[in-house]
Order: sequence, then C-alpha cells, then structure tokens
Amino acid sequence: MVPIPHIVAIPYPAQGHVLPLMELSLWLVKEGCKITFVNSEFNHKRVIKALSENDDVQKKISLVSIPDGLGPEEDRTDLKKLTEAIAEVMPGKLEEVINMINECDENGVSCVIVDENMGWALGVAEKLNIRRVAFWPAAAAMLASLFSVSKLIDDGIIDSDGAILKKQGIKLSPNMPIMNPSDFAWACFPDPAMRKMVIELVKDNNERVKSADWIICNSAKELEPGPFAMFPQVSPIGPLLASNRLGFSAGHFWPEDSSCLKWLDQQPNNSVIYVAFGSFTILDSAQFQELALGLELSKRRFLWVVRENLLTDEAADNAYPKGFKDRIGNRGHIVKWAPQQEVLAHPSIACFLSHCGWNSTVESVSNGVPFLCWPYFADQLFNQSYICDVWKVGLGFKKNEFGIIGKEEIKNKMDQLFGDEVFKERALDLQAKVKSSVKGGGSSNKMFGKFIDWIKTG
Ligand code: UDP
Repeated sequence: MVPIPHIVAIPYPAQGHVLPLMELSLWLVKEGCKITFVNSEFNHKRVIKALSENDDVQKKISLVSIPDGLGPEEDRTDLKKLTEAIAEVMPGKLEEVINMINECDENGVSCVIVDENMGWALGVAEKLNIRRVAFWPAAAAMLASLFSVSKLIDDGIIDSDGAILKKQGIKLSPNMPIMNPSDFAWACFPDPAMRKMVIELVKDNNERVKSADWIICNSAKELEPGPFAMFPQVSPIGPLLASNRLGFSAGHFWPEDSSCLKWLDQQPNNSVIYVAFGSFTILDSAQFQELALGLELSKRRFLWVVRENLLTDEAADNAYPKGFKDRIGNRGHIVKWAPQQEVLAHPSIACFLSHCGWNSTVESVSNGVPFLCWPYFADQLFNQSYICDVWKVGLGFKKNEFGIIGKEEIKNKMDQLFGDEVFKERALDLQAKVKSSVKGGGSSNKMFGKFIDWIKTG
C-alpha cells in the first residue's frame, strides 16, 4: 500500500501568510495527505480562539505550535526583533516537532512546505534529509525581484545594503512589468540596519529556496506571464485561495463577523464599496477621519472593516468624526473583521477600496471586482501598479499637500470608478482568465496536479 504523505507546513507568522498556506493544506488533505501545521505559539492561540464553532479543521489538520522567541507582550510589529528571535529559537523547535512526528508516524515526514520568508526551515529539512517545497504567497514579480537582488547590486540599482542608487523604473527582463526600485520589498524599511538585515536574509533565502524540490506560487501565468517566463522553476498553482475555495475559514487571527453578509443581502446589486486594509496596515486618526468623511461625502453604500488595531494613535471607536455613525445610518456597515472572500463574491459589491495586499488583490480579481488602491507598504505598492497600470482594473489615490488622502479625492475617485464601466468590464475579463487557469485543463490546475503527483510519489 502507498503510504499516506505526511506534510509539515510552516507559514511566516503573519495573517496574509497563514491563510493561503492553510488553504493549500486543506487542498492537500482533500487529496489524501496528512498535514501538521506549525504556527508560532502567539498566532496559534489567536487561530484557535477565532475558529467558529462549526469549523472542524482540527479533525482534518494537526494544528501545533512552537515559540517565536518573543514574550507574550512583546511587540511583534518590530520586524527586526521578531526576525532575530525567530532565527534564534524556531529552528531547534521545528527540528523537535519533526523528530517527534518521525517517532510516532511509521512513514515519517514525507516533505515540508515552507513559506519563502522562513528559509531557515528549509535548512532544517535539508539537514534531516526531508524533501522541500518553498511556498511564495505573493506576486511572482516580487519573488523575481528577490531572486534578482545580487544582479540589482551588480548593476548599481541598489547598494549592497539595499539603499536605492538609481530611482528610475526598471524591467528585470524584457517581459517583466516596470518595477520602481522604491517599491522593492526591502525599500519600505527606512532604518538602514533593518534594510541590510533584510538584504542578507533575502540572499540567504534565495540559496535555500532555489535548491528546494519545488517553488510554488499563489499566482497564475495569466496574471503575470513575465516573471514565470523569467524564472521557469517557479510553479504557478494559484490563486488557490481565491478562485477555488473549499469554503473553510480556518487560519484567521480574528473571528469573522458574518452579520455583514445579511446586510449585503439587503443592498442592491453592484452598489457597495468594500473598504478593508488587511491585517497589518495602520492609519493615523487624521487619515482615518478623512476616509470616514470621504465615505460620507460620496453618499454611496459601504462596508468598512475597522480592525481593532487599525489606528496608530487612538482606539478606533473614539476616532470617528462626531456624529458620523448617526449621519450614515444604514447606508454603511462597519465590522472588525469580515469574511472577506464571501464579501467579495457577493453580488452587491461594486468595488474594493483595498490596501492591495496580494491575497486581497487575487481575491478581488477572482471575483471580478475593480479596485480603489490605498497601498501602505512592502509589496502593496507594486501590486497597485499591476492593478492600475498593467491590468487597468482600478484607480489609485493622490495625497494632498498635508500628506494625506483627502475626502474630496476619495469621493472623486469613487465617482470616476463608478462612472466608467470599463473598469468593471476589464475586471470581468481578468476574472474569466483566472478562472480558466484554475479549472480543469487550465495552466495552474495542471501545475497543481503535477505537484500533487510528486507529493504522492515521495
Ligand atoms: N481578511 C479577512 N477579513 C478582513 C480583512 C482581511 O478575511 O476583514 C483576509 C483577506 O481575505 C486576506 C487576508 O486577510 O486573505 C489579508 O491578506 P493580504 O495579503 O491581503 O494582506 P495583509 O494582511 O498580508 O497585509
């Protein structure tokens, strides 16, 4: 009898990384694999707490945890501290988990699937002689930029510490979209020490990732042909989460508030602006108020996700403009965390005012929903260029002389997007391409099939 593959999945400890790897894991369970999913202790507790009563994910997947090296109260948004703590503590703990599985499961661990940002875990698997898959949950173009870091240094685009030397947009290869050096992932760290650490980490990860048995990416050739042509060893298997959903909601750090689905049911088709900034983006209270006033000024319906930690300087509940909620009444609905994929699939949604995280981007694209782009940092700036300049399915905002996006700008861009049907038409075209990629015979579907065959024959 062929042994059941036992896979250990290791996400980077952030919401936008845990969710797509969880979805991939659930797909692999459906294909007959056993999964041990290794979260950091801090995130594991949040995931368990946020599970809905009906979610039986723990019957399907073994959810385990290891410490990330920080105390319970320490600031996990300090990425330098977090990265150093992870490197110190997690490798040894992961090795213990794998050894324990090898003792209990007669066939042992057949392969690991590791988030690209956790290259050290590929090192642990290599040491233990276990097959290795690197998982990249963002745009393939961003991975191509990481793979090109040494060339960018040699070509004088950045220096060896990641500082930008040439400001003009560049193409990594003739078929790639133009990339602005200020949009590269490491450029979002103003602290030179942090940037240098990221560059070193990228180089280290590149070596480990390139020697993995598979590099899989939650994107599709139809969305970004250039980077897949440039790095054919990167296999598109996506967008898994968005277009081929299994209907589970495990992996969230906050409980989903499904009240908004009932509210959406009462709204006319194609009328609601969905406003959400993912899990990490923050606003100060001046910008938050301006956004609220822009939504009010637009006179349009909206569903707004106001995470409990969305504001930098104040509790969100105290930050709304005076009388805002009374003036808005039932025209707007506010939740702390939405079932986003169900929201984006709802017929009343007309557009997505988004921070352009990759998961949010592919979820919206997969549902044919056009965008208003409000990127915050890291890959979100580049994802905005895909949305506005390459796929042309959305509009960006311009900041005013005070460095914020003003209420008139917000209202005007909403009017422009609603007033021009071409955005919706293009979004539907793109949706059709993505759907054909993930369904039987499509390029992502075929690649996923090959990947499963490899997993099963290990
Ligand atoms: N998300 C959600 N409910 C919300 C906001 C976000 O379920 O109210 C999910 C969203 O569907 C996506 C993930 O959280 O899968 C956010 O990932 P993304 O890459 O868009 O942004 P990040 O949080 O990494 O900045």
